[in-house]
Amino acid sequence: MTDTSPAATSHRVPADLPNHIQHYVDGKFIDSVDGATFEVLDPVSNKTYLQAAAGKRADIDKAVAAAQRAFREGPWPRMLPRERSRVLHRVADIVASRDSRLAELESYDSGLPITQALGQAKRAAENFRFFADLIVAQADDTYKVPGRQINYVNRKPIGVAGLITPWNTPFMLESWKLGPALATGNTVVLKPAEFTPLSASLWAGIFEEAGLPQGVFNLINGLGEEAGDALVKHPGVPLISFTGESTTGQLIFANAAPFLKGLSMELGGKSPAVVFADADLDAAIDATVFGVFSLNGERCTAGSRILVQHDIYDEFVRRYAEQAKRVVVGYPHDPATEVGALVHPEHYEKVMSYVEIGKTEGRLVAGGGRPEGFETGNFIAPTVFADVPPEARIFQEEIFGPIVAITPFDTDEEALKLANNTKYGLAAYIWTNDLKRAHNFAQSVEAGMVWLNSNNVRDLRTPFGGVKASGLGHEGGYRSIDFYTDQQAVHITLGTAHNPSFGKEA
Ligand code: NAD
Repeated sequence: MTDTSPAATSHRVPADLPNHIQHYVDGKFIDSVDGATFEVLDPVSNKTYLQAAAGKRADIDKAVAAAQRAFREGPWPRMLPRERSRVLHRVADIVASRDSRLAELESYDSGLPITQALGQAKRAAENFRFFADLIVAQADDTYKVPGRQINYVNRKPIGVAGLITPWNTPFMLESWKLGPALATGNTVVLKPAEFTPLSASLWAGIFEEAGLPQGVFNLINGLGEEAGDALVKHPGVPLISFTGESTTGQLIFANAAPFLKGLSMELGGKSPAVVFADADLDAAIDATVFGVFSLNGERCTAGSRILVQHDIYDEFVRRYAEQAKRVVVGYPHDPATEVGALVHPEHYEKVMSYVEIGKTEGRLVAGGGRPEGFETGNFIAPTVFADVPPEARIFQEEIFGPIVAITPFDTDEEALKLANNTKYGLAAYIWTNDLKRAHNFAQSVEAGMVWLNSNNVRDLRTPFGGVKASGLGHEGGYRSIDFYTDQQAVHITLGTAHNPSFGKEA
């Protein structure tokens, strides 16, 4: 690992870092009913820096009861969209005004490089602003029907939304669910990931300051198999929006089935980046390096399998490895850092085990272990394996770290076959200057989202979600509004009813 950056040589702890966080229910911070807590580690020292209240069924019951009360009796579901929109715009303003502090805490808690954590905090503000605007612009469908009748669609909030989120970019992903769930008038119980609960605890103060009525936002920290499980199985929670691993998604799907809950599932990925010989090679290399190593490789849409056409394969691999070696690994708080510390020692062990697996399956051309100068903490050098066969585990399984597999192909058909050869179907990236080929490939690739000569830039109005084991349903833009609302059809007549009836013609 050639680290030529002026990376800082020590770890920095943010000022006023809390050492204890609680649940937030009905406008109050509270401990668990049984007083239980769990430990949260800082990914650089791997020492406990925080005790978080560990919620279980009794805590979820309390939070759901508060959210139900706020839904049945409180003003939030009954407010006009523009009234809710004003509150959500204030949320966006507060988040934007504190983005540096949010980024500092998120970076410390999750190990994300500070510059990327800042980008995610800004995106969180943007998410709120987007849904605040969208809910006002939302045009309910109205249809004129023969016989002076009108049919219209009455969109209604559903009730208590259960929001379960992962540890990668936690604050931003929470905003992605909280924004539309609240904009549409639901009340919520959020269960953030246990590895990274710090930033979620800041929502309570932000919502209070913005004027969100008491009981609308509730937060229960805790382990997935305890707090998350209780939320999924609570009969008073009619819909669950979940982002996390595909295996957890399967479990939640089964646990929610007896209640026929509304489910939105954003799950794992092993997305292909396909580079054809006619591509702009400089752009393709830059984008595919960033695409897999940014956010520490802990990115659901990471292009973690790169398929490269034979004619340019050797050059691509050589240049890619050189560039990967220049990626700056460093302490998360350092603005020069491009890859920080992986979130947790458990996850780090898993990622490192794939490095060893990869050494038996492919040709290691960059990285492959700890970077120089980082003898402790969850640091790993950006790792590149070339000549990886499609049956390899590092080709098939989601690693969720800074590891990439490169595989050669000859023809378009072979590229498509390789691209579709995993159980996942979240994203696909295609690099070619042949317009026809690009669109043909997009039509056939099994992916919820396709980027052509582009990398992860998306307008918030577009649908976000995966196919196959990568998800169920789509969120984003109006699809989020659809998920968080019941759409009741109302049919009325304006004149004398000309309805079908017995004994008369319709
Ligand atoms: P995870 O599935 O382990 O946990 C996600 C959340 O589910 C956590 O809050 C956890 O506590 C909770 N949970 C765990 N078991 C549960 C259960 N039995 N019942 C209810 N809740 C439970 O996922 P993770 O490791 O936190 O996150 C990484 C995964 O998330 C990766 O697979 C990644 O691809 C995926 N992800 C997907 C997207 C997307 O939009 N498709 C975005 C980000 C992350």
